[in-house]
Order: sequence, then C-alpha cells, then structure tokens
Amino acid sequence: MLRTIRGFKDILPAEIHLWQHIEETARKIFESYGFSEIRIPIVERTDLFRRSIGEVTDIVEKEMYTFSDRHGESITLRPEGTASVVRAYIEHKLYGGPISKLYYMGPMFRYERPQKGRYRQFYQIGAEVLGEESPRLDAEILEMLMRFFSHLKLAGTTLQINSLGCRICRPGYKDELKRYLGGKRGVLCEDCLKRVEINPLRVLDCKSRGCTEATSGAPSILEHLCDECRGHFHAVLDCLQTAGVHAVTNKRMVRGLDYYTKTTFEVTAEGIGAQNTIAAGGRYDMLVRDLGGPDTPCFGFAIGMERMGLLLKEATELKKPLVFVAVFGGDDVHAAGMDVIDRLREHGVAVERDYERKGIKPQLKRANRLGARYVLILGTDELAAGTIAVKDMEAGTQEVVSLEGIEATVVKKIRT
Ligand SMILES: [Zn+2]
Ligand SMILES: [Zn+2]
Repeated sequence: MLRTIRGFKDILPAEIHLWQHIEETARKIFESYGFSEIRIPIVERTDLFRRSIGEVTDIVEKEMYTFSDRHGESITLRPEGTASVVRAYIEHKLYGGPISKLYYMGPMFRYERPQKGRYRQFYQIGAEVLGEESPRLDAEILEMLMRFFSHLKLAGTTLQINSLGCRICRPGYKDELKRYLGGKRGVLCEDCLKRVEINPLRVLDCKSRGCTEATSGAPSILEHLCDECRGHFHAVLDCLQTAGVHAVTNKRMVRGLDYYTKTTFEVTAEGIGAQNTIAAGGRYDMLVRDLGGPDTPCFGFAIGMERMGLLLKEATELKKPLVFVAVFGGDDVHAAGMDVIDRLREHGVAVERDYERKGIKPQLKRANRLGARYVLILGTDELAAGTIAVKDMEAGTQEVVSLEGIEATVVKKIRT
C-alpha cells in the first residue's frame, strides 16, 4: 500500500473544520490590528536561509530539505516564514510605504525526529511587523497574540519573555557566558561542547540534565543589557501590564535562530506534554539590513498549527450544519426539489441530496449517515399543497412549512 512518507500527514475532513476555525480566527483578529496577508513561495534559494537563520543553527545544519534543481541551483523547502517575508519586503521595496504588517499561513519543512504534535511538514501562522522600533509595538503584538488564544478559548497559556540584547551588549555577555561555561565542560552534552565556542546562548535552553545543572548559576543576559536594550525591555513589560497581559520573565529563554535582538518570547500551553511551545518570536532589528535592505526594525512570531490542533481537539462542533433535501415523486417534484436545493445553496446553506432517485427510506438513511441536522422532505402531496416537511434530526420532531420562502425559514433555523 502506498503511504505518506515519515513525518508527513494528511489532514482529513474530520480535522479540517478545526483548522479552518483557527485560521479564520487568526485572520479576523490580525486584520483588526491592521495586518494584511502575504503569500510567500514554499521554495527559496538555500542562501536566503543560511544568511538569515544563521549557518550554525540546528535548522540550517541538520534540518533543512535542500535539493539541487535541474539547473544545479541549491534550493530549500522553507523551514520558517520570516526569511521569505523579509526577502519579499526588500524585493518589492515595501519599505517605501508606511510600516508593513503582514501575516502568512502555510506549511514549513524541517527534517526533525517526528513525535506527537511534531511533523516534518508542519503548518504555521505567522505575523511580521516591519518598520517600527517602539516597545509599544512589541507589547501590542503580544496582546494581539494572547487575544487570539483567548478567542479560541485556549486555557492554560503562559507568555514567557526575555531580551537577547543587541549587537552592542550581546557580545560582552556571550564572552562572559563562554568563560563561565569553560569551567563546566565536564558536564556539558556533546552538542553543547560545540555550542560553547560558536553559540553559547543555545546551551542555556539545552534540556539535557548536565547542561541544565551547569547553567543554573550562569550569568543572566538581563544583567548585561545596554541602556537602550534595558529601557526597551522594561517598557515592553510596562505596556503589557497596562494592557492586562500577564508575562513571566524567563532569562534562560533563547531562540534557535540567530536573527533575534531585544525582545524574544514563547507562549506555552498545558496539556500537550514536553513539546508545549505553541507560539514563539521576537524582535529582529538587523535582519532586513543583513539581507541587503535598509535599516528596518522588525517584530514577529509564528504559531504552530499541529499543537493548537491537539489542544483544541475537544472544541465544539465547528462543522457547518448540513441540510439534506429528500425528494420523491415525478419529474415535476424533482424539478421543484432542485429549485429548493438551488435557493438554499445561494443562501450559503450546506446541502446534500440523493442522486439516484431512491425511495424515501434510503434517502433518510443517507441523510442520517451524512450527519444532517435537518432533512427537508418534498413529495407529490407536499408539492400539491405548496408545502415542505422539515425534520429536525436532533430533536426528532417534524413540521410542515410553506414551500415559498423555505430558504429564509432554513437559514433562520440554522442560525438559532
Ligand atoms: Zn543592547
Ligand atoms: Zn546540552
């Protein structure tokens, strides 16, 4: 039997209503904060990710799907969305206009070990603001993100926040951390022994026991921020407090990407085990310039769809209520039935029907199997009387209503 490859999966109709609900909620909330959607390609030149995410990161070193195309050019399936948004921003000179607020949704690809809630093709909803440096913006976007979770009625979320400093204050901190970790080499894991020299911050969020113990007394970045970064961090915290958004400072939180500066954050949720980060992001003030654009301070985040799906699995029935139109009789009855179906669909009602002109019993059976909420029954007698029967499948009741204006009657029933 042919199967999907490891780490890839189908999203079947049973799950899709939840996904659409999450996506629609994101669109509604993000657009109320002035965001517009951008659709970026799934494939980019490999160089884009090397230059943005960083050469010495897990993503670039071990996790990218990189291929040569037929002309020998190295291309990569996007492992995240920010790099492409920044590339598009520079390529289309969007910096000529006002600040850009862009969101995207779609699949990303990373060659990681698949586990619960983690796939090699995974879906993200991301948002990026390009061209604004104020800490008030950081706080507003975090407020938007937490509002999104609360609209989805997601309980048990925690916003953790940290600052990673800037190119002025981070190098000094890195050196101090390197010195500190130099004395702990005996207990660090193999990966972290390499990280100490090139990317010592990553040791702080290594989950291995030795590394967690070794870093428990490590110097904190928050005590090494320059005045500018410290002021920014405290302003973000103040604005969050004013907005009523609860945030917990986590000085060990670093992100696995090189481009972050100043504010970084993660949102975790209860109930999905150890892989409990459902959204993450931060400020990246240097990336646009590093990729060849003008100085442009930016802030963004990405939300993981699969984990959101796990958390909201128990959510209420989101599928549009289905109406089944059962018709039996001669050609004139079927013509009237088709007219009813047509009018309902024009009014946005989800309608199913029978294609084989079967008797009433098999039609009702089919309606039941499809999970129809209402069944409309039109036979010779009903048509002659200008009526139609409406069977409420949940309540088990049936009433006869006027055929004229049936679409309005059904729409009203569905809405209440
Ligand atoms: Zn700084
Ligand atoms: Zn480690």
